[in-house]
Amino acid sequence: MFLTPFNLRNEFRNLQHDFGEDILYIKINDSIKCSCFNEFYKVGDPDCLKCLGTGFNITIEKTKVINYNSMKNTVQHSKVGEIYSPIYTLYFDHTKNPEIKDRICLSEFSENQINIKAVCEITGTNAEKGSLGRNEFYTVQAKTRPELLTQTQNFFNNLSSDNKELIIKGNEVSC
Ligand SMILES: [Zn+2]
Repeated sequence: MFLTPFNLRNEFRNLQHDFGEDILYIKINDSIKCSCFNEFYKVGDPDCLKCLGTGFNITIEKTKVINYNSMKNTVQHSKVGEIYSPIYTLYFDHTKNPEIKDRICLSEFSENQINIKAVCEITGTNAEKGSLGRNEFYTVQAKTRPELLTQTQNFFNNLSSDNKELIIKGNEVSC
């Protein structure tokens, strides 16, 4: 069957519905600096609980992605120094605009709690174009950043219950 771009988006939505996994997408807005940003070193305070140490305004949103690794039921490993950290391939729908350095948290959600299972940093993203040149979905590569796990969990533990609830319900929250 010939897939028109319209169908491709629909196909993606069906796959997302059947195989999608809720994750947290943390977008780093590098046009707005956090108050912790150090102008001399051009970095944020790693312990800042407002920006997760990124030095910039962040927005947090729960979204459903297709996790290629869990579909394959295996995890690829790449050697980074002496530790092995999984590399993930995730598919985002066309309404997002994932960018390098943005973060992804593989997470578990309950009514009022967010448990972070893994923190990843986006290392590559590709807009998959349909025949009309329109973005149909995104392929995203992300590497795990295990050293950020504790800090990220603390961040979500300290988040106001209002913001936590908004995120769990699927709203975008700006910090
Ligand atoms: Zn900050």
